[in-house]
Amino acid sequence: MRALRFHAARDLRLEELPEPKQPGPGQVLVRNRFVGICGTDLHEYSYGPIFIPKEPHPYTGAHGPQVLGHEFGGVVEAIGAGVTSVVAGDRVSIQPLIMPRSGDYFADRGLFHLSPQLALVGLSWDGGGMAEAAVVNEYNVQKMPDEMTDEEAALVEPTAVAVYACDRGGVTAGNSVLVTGAGPIGMLTLLAARAAGAAQLFVSDLNDARLDLAKSVLPDVVTINPKRDSVGDVVRSSPEAMSAVTWPLNASATNMR
Ligand SMILES: [Zn+2]
Repeated sequence: MRALRFHAARDLRLEELPEPKQPGPGQVLVRNRFVGICGTDLHEYSYGPIFIPKEPHPYTGAHGPQVLGHEFGGVVEAIGAGVTSVVAGDRVSIQPLIMPRSGDYFADRGLFHLSPQLALVGLSWDGGGMAEAAVVNEYNVQKMPDEMTDEEAALVEPTAVAVYACDRGGVTAGNSVLVTGAGPIGMLTLLAARAAGAAQLFVSDLNDARLDLAKSVLPDVVTINPKRDSVGDVVRSSPEAMSAVTWPLNASATNMR
C-alpha cells in the first residue's frame, strides 16, 4: 500500500509498504478514505520528531519512520476477535488516542487523554491516516451515520478539539466569544461556540483571507486584524461583549491538536 512516512524534519517520503496485518483481538482494519493535515503534522514536518518517538514508544513500541495522519476516516475492512461495535463495511471516524484502558490512574477515572502512556495513531502508533489502510483499536473507531460524508468523518477529530475548547471555556447561550486565530481549528471553534449558543462572536487573525472566509461562513462574526486594530479595543467597544465575556481557551488545552 502507499503511505506517507516521516523520516526526519523536512523528509517525508511516499513509500510502498506491505499491507497491514489482519487485525488482532480487539482491533479493526480500516481502508482509509480522507485524512486531514493537522498543524501538529506541519510541526513534525518542520521541526520533528516532536510527538513522534525517537525511541520505541513505551506503550505501543512504535518508532520511526512514522506514517502520519490522525484526522481521518474510512471503511472497516476486517475486525479482530471480540470486536462488537463495528462490522466490515461500516464507515468510521478515527479517534486517535491510545492508552491503557484500565489499571492506569487516569484511565480508571475516564481521563484517558492524561495517561502518561498516551500514544496517538499517526504519531506514535504503527500506522496512520496518510496510508491506504491502518489497523487501530476498536475504541479508536466510531461508526458514522449514513448522512455524514467521508470528508466529514475526517473532520470529527479536529471538530472534537473545538467543541472541547468551548466546553473548557464554559461557552453557553448568550455568551460573547473571542477566538484568536482563524485557521481550521479557529473556524471550527467559532462554529462550536455558535452551536453552544454564543451570541456575539469575534475572531482575530493577521491573514485577511482567513478573516474573509470566517465572515462568509458566519456573516455576523466581527473580524479583527491586529495589524490594523487592537483586539482588546474592538471587543471592549461592543456592548454585548461587556455584558458577558467568556474567554475560551485556545485549542491547545492539552497542547495537542
Ligand atoms: Zn490534530
